[in-house]
Amino acid sequence: MDLTFKHGWLAMAYNAYEAADTVYTTAADQPNPRFSKIKEGLAFSTTFVPTYHLVILGVLSVFTLVHWTHKLRRRWVRGTQAEGRWSGKNSHSARADQPFHKDDSVIREDERSGSSSSSSTLSADNMPLLKSGRGAHTGGSFISRIRSIFIYQPRPIPIINKVLPDNGTTVLALGLVALNIFYTLYGCPLEKMVIFVLAGRSGYLFVVNLPLLYFLAAKNQPIKFLTGYSYESLNLLHRRLGEVLCALALLHAITMTTVWYTILRPVGWSFGHFLSQKIIYVGLIAFIAYELLYLTSLGSFRQRWYELFLVSHVALQAGALVLLYLHHSRSRVYVGLALAIFLVDRVVFRIFAKSCQVSAMLTVAEDGKTALISAEWTKQSSFFTGINIKQGWNAMEHVFISVPALSRKHFTQAHPFTIASAAPAPSDSQANLGLIVRAQDGFTKDLLAYAKQHNTVKVRLDGPYGSQTAMDLLMDSQSAVVVAGGSGIAVAYPLVKALLSRSFAPVDDDNLEGRKALGPARKMCLIWVTQEASHRSWLGPEKLEDLRKQGVDLVLPPPTCEAGRPDVALEVRSWIDQYTDSAGGAGKIGVVCSGPDGMNRAVRNTCAGLAARGVNVDVEVEKFGW
Ligand SMILES: Cc1cc2nc3c(=O)[nH]c(=O)nc-3n(C[C@H](O)[C@H](O)[C@H](O)COP(=O)(O)OP(=O)(O)OC[C@H]3O[C@@H](n4cnc5c(N)ncnc54)[C@H](O)[C@@H]3O)c2cc1C
Repeated sequence: MDLTFKHGWLAMAYNAYEAADTVYTTAADQPNPRFSKIKEGLAFSTTFVPTYHLVILGVLSVFTLVHWTHKLRRRWVRGTQAEGRWSGKNSHSARADQPFHKDDSVIREDERSGSSSSSSTLSADNMPLLKSGRGAHTGGSFISRIRSIFIYQPRPIPIINKVLPDNGTTVLALGLVALNIFYTLYGCPLEKMVIFVLAGRSGYLFVVNLPLLYFLAAKNQPIKFLTGYSYESLNLLHRRLGEVLCALALLHAITMTTVWYTILRPVGWSFGHFLSQKIIYVGLIAFIAYELLYLTSLGSFRQRWYELFLVSHVALQAGALVLLYLHHSRSRVYVGLALAIFLVDRVVFRIFAKSCQVSAMLTVAEDGKTALISAEWTKQSSFFTGINIKQGWNAMEHVFISVPALSRKHFTQAHPFTIASAAPAPSDSQANLGLIVRAQDGFTKDLLAYAKQHNTVKVRLDGPYGSQTAMDLLMDSQSAVVVAGGSGIAVAYPLVKALLSRSFAPVDDDNLEGRKALGPARKMCLIWVTQEASHRSWLGPEKLEDLRKQGVDLVLPPPTCEAGRPDVALEVRSWIDQYTDSAGGAGKIGVVCSGPDGMNRAVRNTCAGLAARGVNVDVEVEKFGW
């Protein structure tokens, strides 16, 4: 008997069966063919299932290769070519408060294609993905149409209004699910009498997935360095894999019960006796813990009771790991790995390496529903170089803040906010760290109330976090469109500032020669949609004016509470159309959007439609949530 038979389950089942099954053995005392099939099946699982990691590493290596090839090529290009300067279409007159649809050129263009009604409702849904032939670009190639399908984001699922990710992410998530289905069923006999193999396989695949599940959830993990994707974008894969594991746990429980029913019950085992086996009841409690984890992680639960979700998530996963460890020896190495990933992330990085405390100014913005946090940042050396906020941060990055002064319960709470002020350049030793905090119902409401009474506060910061994929996209682009909805300006403003500082000389005629050397003009547009006019005070007129002076094409539609929602999709498209000549050769166009789900989707699908028409456009969406 190999290791598996020495202890645990199968030995128990085997002995019971052998005792009962003697009448079934062949004359020559040949081993019961059913049990040799189970043994073979289990032996195959033992060698086959761990190869799952090789496949995951293979996929990770492909993403790493793509990311680093781009990164190194970008560095090389930047080393050899002067960066193109950014210049606005009419940088000296921002079109503040001019409603989009007054821009005749855009509307006229669409009427030409005879679908005037569609022109004003050029929403994301009816962008012809597969059909090319509108406007300047006709006949997107097969590749560009495939690309557009990957960019496209389907409608939310009606009734539950569940926001779906873009097709590209869905394909990746479905790939992970399909891989697990393959690893569950490949070479696994499914007959009832040998169902023990599937029971073993599903349990084994569950534990083999644990380290990956924890890596995809950790805020500090090597995947970001390797692929550029930060924990926020990986979180969706974490959730999908979590659901797969809950399905595997359910399959494991059902097949184990089938084993009882088919093998043990006939030899006199009652269900109670079956459940009284330590390996069974410990497994059952672990199973309940994982299914509870799933239920408390549902979007609707998280939306309503985020703190309860967080506490139950940490407590249930910790308890379940201990139970898994006790349930089966084969789980122990994976439980150990998962626990190590969790502790390194939470303790080493989040409590020690990446956290610090600052004294901050607190103000209530003009709208009365937003708190502005502002702290003077002075560069400090730290043992943990390059990962702590003391050494600086990049544009679009966010920090988790805790404000113990609010109340005892806030001592353990940490909430993410994007650093809305310009990121310090590597050579800077001073800067301002500013956060825009929109009041919701929990921590943010308490902070706003506190800000109405106090104008300074001690804030514990954990960070910075976030990926640079959006920045890299715009740095690689000839034209950049940055779209912000409400507090999404916290992403957009530092991004635009960083882009300008990286490749822009101030607009003064004396420096004309200098600018000429910088190569062809790159165009940048910032569209900021606000609910109320007072929301513009989050940045203040000086900063907006500064952007316009630096050549950014600033588009500020009238507040939605006055004029309703502008057609952002139309504005993005008409701005891009102006810069793509009939040859379609205006270079790469990068679009970054940060706003409410509906706006993000409209902008993303506008880019999908343009990509289908052969426009060299790409889009990144920065969401306040996962
Ligand atoms: C990467 C990122 C950057 C963000 N940047 C900003 C910003 O610059 N300005 C801004 O106003 N808001 C930002 N948010 C949103 C902000 O974190 C939430 O509004 C805040 O945490 C709500 O806390 P609350 O207790 O008041 O929320 P509640 O009223 O309890 O919940 C409101 C919503 O916030 C979500 N939420 C609650 N707590 C958290 C948490 N700890 N982490 C993530 N989501 C949570 C809930 O799911 C719910 O949807 C950002 C969120 C993320 C994920």
